[in-house]
Amino acid sequence: MFIVPEREIANLMTRSAAFDAVESVFASMASNDAYNFPVVREALGHEDALYGFKGGFDQKGLTLGLKAGGYWPHNLEKRGVINHQSTVFLFDPDTGMVKAMVGGNLLTALRTAAASSVSIKHLARKDSKVIGMIGAGHQATFQLRSALEVGNFEEVIAWNYHPEMLSNIEKIAVEANVPFRAVQLENMRDADVIISITSAFNPSLLEEHVSPGTHIACMGTDTKGKQEVESSLLAKARVFTDEIAQSISIGESQHAISEGLIAEADIIQLGAVINGSQKGRTSSDQITLFDGTGVGLQDLAVASSVVDLAIKSGVAIELDF
Ligand code: NAD
Repeated sequence: MFIVPEREIANLMTRSAAFDAVESVFASMASNDAYNFPVVREALGHEDALYGFKGGFDQKGLTLGLKAGGYWPHNLEKRGVINHQSTVFLFDPDTGMVKAMVGGNLLTALRTAAASSVSIKHLARKDSKVIGMIGAGHQATFQLRSALEVGNFEEVIAWNYHPEMLSNIEKIAVEANVPFRAVQLENMRDADVIISITSAFNPSLLEEHVSPGTHIACMGTDTKGKQEVESSLLAKARVFTDEIAQSISIGESQHAISEGLIAEADIIQLGAVINGSQKGRTSSDQITLFDGTGVGLQDLAVASSVVDLAIKSGVAIELDF
């Protein structure tokens, strides 16, 4: 088996390679060439941590495996390590033997940012100029960096529950040479695209904060009980997701579904838009909403590319296991 340590990932994986891997696996999921296993996600009752497993099998790419990990909210302040911790394990689909163990922290951020960027490419209005960020934590910076490479944005506006963290977002905007403005939630009406990536359990973004024609990528809600946007927004929007089973159980749609505001049949797989079997945005004043719950196949797709790159460049550690 091969080990690709976390420290090597930054030198191996690019944002554009992550984008391509995620766009392609979303398409494979929608054409039933790849499927995700049910997610296991548990509150450990220790360090307030949420821990779980996300796995899947891509029959076309012959990628089998899982990501084990989760969210430890006190890591940064108590231990100086990031709150998300994960590791990807890949198996040989012909024998079941373990093939690789790959550091999953940076890969998670890259594949999550790639997912919202894929949604922006396929669902946002082509004339989108202002991107709004809700959230300013670890994932948010990756989200913005990736989105700025996909769209021709001329301004970044941002709101965060903890305003002192907004400098994280400003830094990315400055690096990309795009003007930055810290705003109140009402000012999200100025945004053409909004990415929400927080660990909130109550909605911040309300229907009244969103203008017609906006594309919203809801990326933070990946667990039962979490919520970032008012559920009536989902009733108003054309709703897309990575994986419908996850969207209705652990994603943003869980609330709109349980309140009877939308039905499962109203939710469209983003991969079906990529494949051309479903329409994406149908008018310029329609609100589109991508419920990005994060699927195991995204992790396996990026981890598999990294293993190939690590073997080629000689940094993969080979073990007789
Ligand atoms: P982080 O701890 O670095 O940042 C948390 C963010 O949430 C900060 O902006 C913080 O100010 C904000 N926040 C905290 N409490 C809030 C509240 N009550 N109301 C509004 N905002 C609040 O975490 P992170 O690593 O950036 O992860 C953010 C979220 O993204 C987590 O919920 C995580 O589980 C989720 N996530 C989703 C995916 C996916 O594929 N969809 C992947 C990775 C992470």
